[in-house]
Amino acid sequence: MFSDDLRKGTIIQPILPRPTLPAAPRPHGLRRAAGAIFNWINVLPFLGIHVACIAVFFVEFHWWAIPLFLTTYSLRVWALTAGFHRYFAHRAYKTSRWFQFVIATIGSAAIQKGPMWWAGEHRQHHRHSDQDGDPHSPIKKSVFWAHIGWILSRGNGDTDWNEMKDWNKFPELKWLDRFHWIPGALLGVGCWYFGGPTALVWGFVLSTVAVYHVTFCVNSVCHLFGYRRFETTDRSRNNWWVALLTFGEGWHNNHHHYQSSARQGFAWYEVDISYMSLKVLSWLGIVWDLREPTPRALQKNLIGSATTAKVLDGQIPAPAAEPNESPLAG
Ligand SMILES: [Zn+2]
Ligand SMILES: [Zn+2]
Repeated sequence: MFSDDLRKGTIIQPILPRPTLPAAPRPHGLRRAAGAIFNWINVLPFLGIHVACIAVFFVEFHWWAIPLFLTTYSLRVWALTAGFHRYFAHRAYKTSRWFQFVIATIGSAAIQKGPMWWAGEHRQHHRHSDQDGDPHSPIKKSVFWAHIGWILSRGNGDTDWNEMKDWNKFPELKWLDRFHWIPGALLGVGCWYFGGPTALVWGFVLSTVAVYHVTFCVNSVCHLFGYRRFETTDRSRNNWWVALLTFGEGWHNNHHHYQSSARQGFAWYEVDISYMSLKVLSWLGIVWDLREPTPRALQKNLIGSATTAKVLDGQIPAPAAEPNESPLAG
């Protein structure tokens, strides 16, 4: 009475239709739209630190609060500009393993996620500037999106290790990228411990919000307002006030033209504080092999030049790229 399959110890499972699970209740209206766009784990602390700025009217003011603000602002803007951007994203100079960890740690204290996440997103920006795939183009989407919307969106959670393979061999950087919140938390706790509520508000809360918005201006303002020296495939622009606030990042059209340069201010009046500081560090032997644009690159694709006009009109082919013009050179 038993089939051969049962005698051999095997049981033939009949193929049954899968039971249909009841559909999860779906949020409606604005809540659904916001949930689809924003990652609330990113949004709530970001909103919270903005609201906390109001505390400046309620804490006791001391004159030392202003230099404290300027110090925590400057160190972190410098680490983002000269470190996360020019070093980790573009490899525009070389340094030692210990110093790269120092700049990665100071930059992480800006609470803009870790160095590998930050630089990976930035490489995506250069790969698709103002095209589909650019994480924060004000041309493809909106100014709000380019400034803060993309940071808060749920699509920008994990580090893109495909973009950052060249840094994969440093376990300390991978660790810092994973626990990127630790330096920022230590800064906040340290301000509170050593200087009380005044230091917490000026040295951490106000300073962090200021660093957020000057950094984000590079993505929003510098693709909309300013002058263009070079014909590039995107809408990047040179903006003097963003350059001053970000220690050199506002010379963004120059940067899109020659991305692996440690120097982004190309004219004498284009002040680039990060480059000046990197120069000083190179004299001290802390960094070395600073990349510079070649004289030929500075003449190439100049807007208004006869050669560029001919290239744009299709009369002559565009000159070939030089070896170190790659955004990801290294
Ligand atoms: Zn850009
Ligand atoms: Zn860049």
